[in-house]
Amino acid sequence: MNSEIIAIGSELLTPHRQDTNSLFVTERLNTLGVSVVFKTIVGDRPRHLISAIQTALSRTDIIVIMGGLGPTEDDLTREAAAHSLGIALKRDHTILAGLYTRAAERRSTMTRNNEKQSDILEGAIVLENPRGTAPGQWLDTVYGKHRKLVLLLPGPPSELKPMFDEQCMPLFKELLPNRFMAVRTLKVALIGESAADARIAPIYQQYSDVETTILAHLGDIQLSLVCTKATMPAARARVDELAGKIEEELEDLIYSSEGETLEQIVLYYLGMKASTLSVAESCTGGLVAERLTSISGASRSFWGGAVVYSNELKTELAGVPADMIERHGAVSREVAGALAEGIRLRCDTTYGLGVTGIAGPTGGSEEKPVGLVYIGVSDGKNTEVIERRFSGDRARIRAYASQTALDQVRRRLMQDC
Ligand code: ATP
Ligand code: MG
Repeated sequence: MNSEIIAIGSELLTPHRQDTNSLFVTERLNTLGVSVVFKTIVGDRPRHLISAIQTALSRTDIIVIMGGLGPTEDDLTREAAAHSLGIALKRDHTILAGLYTRAAERRSTMTRNNEKQSDILEGAIVLENPRGTAPGQWLDTVYGKHRKLVLLLPGPPSELKPMFDEQCMPLFKELLPNRFMAVRTLKVALIGESAADARIAPIYQQYSDVETTILAHLGDIQLSLVCTKATMPAARARVDELAGKIEEELEDLIYSSEGETLEQIVLYYLGMKASTLSVAESCTGGLVAERLTSISGASRSFWGGAVVYSNELKTELAGVPADMIERHGAVSREVAGALAEGIRLRCDTTYGLGVTGIAGPTGGSEEKPVGLVYIGVSDGKNTEVIERRFSGDRARIRAYASQTALDQVRRRLMQDC
């Protein structure tokens, strides 16, 4: 079954507020095997609300309408839904009494306009709202010749989310046939989105029952494989089979096959090998350390390191010979290797990582352009350095440098396994 989400509120059409409720609702609907095929955001104008609801009724089976259920002038969702569906609103006296009791308990006055919060679409199930005043509504109805499910939910996320989980999910489970959704997330580092897609599209296109989406962000590609079937083993089998074929194609470009982050994987391999890591970061200014230490339990394998931005500190804290910096420049293959080996020795770890580069936008030259980055990984016996040229602004270059640095450590650990 298809669904559409309508988020109501003029503030959601400004740059200051975002429709976050629909992300939550989409996630929940997806777990039920229901796809969201449209999302609409509409301001608090009756004409626009009616137009949006009627459009939704003409094209989808399940319509989740959020916001505009409060007591104020601009809360018009109930009226617009009733008008669009051609269904009357009935004042529910139990709810009305509840509103008066709640107001009395809070010593606030219950003004007339508050009463409309007890108006219920004829035939709807009332969804209680203990965290707010406006109840939600669940209407299973026929519109034209088609069965439609229309939900009215309060806008505040603190009210909508528990209402959805506690009251809507059980109702959905009763209504929908048993559907089980299997999800696999594969992660790929440092290959362009289109390059990845070109290689795997011929594979996933053979699996029309598995929804494959590609999300790319700063050198990190996430492939989501989702399949819904009548039983869990059937859904699992399909995503696992497709994941296996993608893994065969992309091989070690895939760093994670269960959704883990790159830093989690690096720490996992370090732990497995009972090895330790230290870092000497110049252009990334601690980004690599920040990412590793964001993982709980990192201290078992990640010992720390230094941000060695100035040449003096490269020498003082990571033992890079001053004449080496003089001869080759701070951004050089030699210095990256010396940073890795120097910090490894100072920190007494199994591996050392060194990162040096030109993040820009200033500081580049013809010989050493902005975006040039050297990354060294050393284990004492063997120091490997790679050179990369990243494009983009300072933040992007630094993010790519940290991503590549972590990926280099991962590759080294995999080799050594
Ligand atoms: P109330 O009784 O609080 O008026 P309501 O159902 O009328 O509830 P709105 O007035 O539309 O809801 O919104 C109330 C609050 O919830 C606002 O702060 C609004 O920004 C927030 N909100 C509404 N819709 C969304 C949404 N889709 N995503 C995130 N926040 C939302
Ligand atoms: Mg409101």
